[in-house]
Formats: sequence, structure tokens, C-alpha cells
Amino acid sequence: MSAAKRSAEDNLEEALARFPRVAVTHAPTPLEPLANLGADLGLSLLAKRDDCTGLGFGGNKVRQLEFYFGAALAAGADTVLITGAVQSNFVRTAAAMAARFGMECHIQLEERVPDVTPLHRNNGNVLLDRLFGARLHSFPEGEDEAGADAAVAAIADKLRGAGRKPYIIPLGVDHPPLGALGYVVAAMELARQFEEQGPVDEIVLASGSAATHSGLLFGLRALGLETPVRGICVRRPAAAQQPRVLRRCADVARLLDLPVVIPESDIRVSDDVLAPGYGRLNAATVAAIRRTAEREGLVLDPAYTGKVMAGLIQLAEAGALAGRRVVFLHSGGTPALFAYADQLTDALSSGAPSSGASPSGSAA
Ligand SMILES: *Cc1c(COP(=O)(O)O)cnc(C)c1O
Repeated sequence: MSAAKRSAEDNLEEALARFPRVAVTHAPTPLEPLANLGADLGLSLLAKRDDCTGLGFGGNKVRQLEFYFGAALAAGADTVLITGAVQSNFVRTAAAMAARFGMECHIQLEERVPDVTPLHRNNGNVLLDRLFGARLHSFPEGEDEAGADAAVAAIADKLRGAGRKPYIIPLGVDHPPLGALGYVVAAMELARQFEEQGPVDEIVLASGSAATHSGLLFGLRALGLETPVRGICVRRPAAAQQPRVLRRCADVARLLDLPVVIPESDIRVSDDVLAPGYGRLNAATVAAIRRTAEREGLVLDPAYTGKVMAGLIQLAEAGALAGRRVVFLHSGGTPALFAYADQLTDALSSGAPSSGASPSGSAA
């Protein structure tokens, strides 16, 4: 490793060390080849297995919550509150982490996905929320970030009145992106894996709240790595997501007090597989989930990683990734699969195995 690289790494580590953090992630997570699917698609495909981060079924939220729980414990909190979609992986992981640190957890579930079934309301992440002992509250108004935050604040007030010490995990863009720091850490981890396993040409990941996208992009650039990072939009269209990622990168720089500027031209987002919207399946996503399961024995989820793989497959089929070495960030979310069992079962029972599967097993 060069001296310049080492000092960039030291600077980042020093900046990160100012933030309290609970180190619970099983890290480094593997960076491993998806040889069959890669061969089908004509590229060298690797998976960064952040579905294997360990706590409570894993996923990207374990890395993000290390910093929120660090802050909560430093503040002397005995209770955490969090708001999210009914099948949120964030709230499920927060519930698991609260259990781990002996804290009470209050979860507010927002009705963001229309026409949900009893399965969606009770299975998957919600089953786990209950299993981890979290108290569930419901917020009926769907896409109202400010309203949802106010409702959580009201629950916290009540708890404070009852003598508890609540900490709200604040996820809105008006709050500093503490969770993104978990992905600055992940960028350092990936940089080391690239040193050992060779460099890559592109990283493809889900872009939702943008904590993962902005943290990873910022971390790589702070280390002097120019690897393109492509965000697949899972929550809002590219026109709204790009400025959000840009803003979050600037927020990360401010939070860490580092003079790294990410220009707009470095923020790549595609929304080709977003429709019909957040947490809702489309044919390309079902096909991608199925194809990855059949070709690699790897499980993806309907709201995030299935869409990322669908986006990656579209890019590959359009020739945009030909012959390149590409990292698919598996950000977890697999418990949500069971909340979509009815829709997936319908899709699986109607038709042959997914395109691209080779029954003869003629893989590379
Ligand atoms: C939350 C989540 C994402 C999106 O991450 P952000 O940091 O919110 O952009 C991606 N994948 C999974 C499985 C998630 O739960």
C-alpha cells in the first residue's frame, strides 16, 4: 500500500473515531464471485455479502445502526424509537440491536405500501419485530415523513413522562447522516478487499435513503478510489434521488469534517426498475430474484436487492457492463421475502424457470 493511501486511510479512521459506535457487525463480509450468473451475463460478477453482517438476519442496517446505538448509549438512553415502512429492515434490525443492548424498542410502522395483505402485515420483518420484543405503533398516513417524525416524537414525550430515557433514531434528511458512516467503514473494508482480490470496474447498489450510497461513495473517494458507484433507485425517481445523494455526500463531509467534495457528475442513479413504486414487485424484479436463486443459490428480496439485480441485468443486457468486473452489493432484506410469499408463489407457479437458467448446468 502506498504512503498516500495509508495516510488517507488514517485520516478517515481518525475522523470516524470521534463517533461513538457499537462494533457488532460480522466484518469483513465476504466479497465472492457469482460465477454462473456472471457468465450468463458476460461479465465478472462479485457479491459483497452485506446480507451476512450477522445481527438479526443481517443487512446494511447493521452497519448503519452501529453509529445510532453508539450515540444512544453515549446519551444514556434506555429506550430507542424508530419509524419505517411495515416491512422495514431498518426497524427490524433496530429491534434486534435493542434486544442485544438490553434496551426497550418502540417501532412505528407507516402504511407506505398500498393494498397490503395480512401476510405483509404479520410475516417477514413484522414477525421478527415482535419476536425481538419491540412495541409496535401504527402510523396510517403513508408518505408523510414530517408527520411520521412528529408522531414518534409524541411517543418519546410520553415515555419521558413515564421516566424513561428515549433516543429517537432520526432518519430524515434534516438530520446528520450518522448511518452513512457505517458505509464509510464499509468502503475501507472494500478497499482492502480490492487490494487483495484485485480492483473492480463498478459497484451497483440500492439507493433508498441514500445512507448506503453516499457513505460508500464518499468513503471510496476519500481513499482516492475512482470506482464508479451506481445506485438503483428503490424509493423515488432518479430526478429526486440524485440531488438527495449529492446532499447526503456533502452532509457526510461536514459530519466527518473532511474536505472531500463529491461532484454531481459522480452520482450515478437509474430508476428503470422502480415502477410501480417502493416495495412493489414488477416482472423484472421477480425474474431477477428467481434467476439469482436458481443460478447461485443466493436469496434476494423484493424491495431492494431484487430490484438492484434487475437493474444490473438490464444494464448487462444493454451491453453497458460487457467484460467488466462488477460488484453487486447484497444489502440484505431477505426476511421481507416471506411477506411477499403469495405474490411470488403466483409468479413462480405461472411459467418455466427464469430465462438464463441453463438446465444442463453448463456454467463457467
Ligand atoms: C434500507 C435498505 C437499502 C437501502 O439503503 P439506504 O441506506 O436506505 O439507501 C437497501 N437494501 C436493503 C435490504 C435495505 O434494507
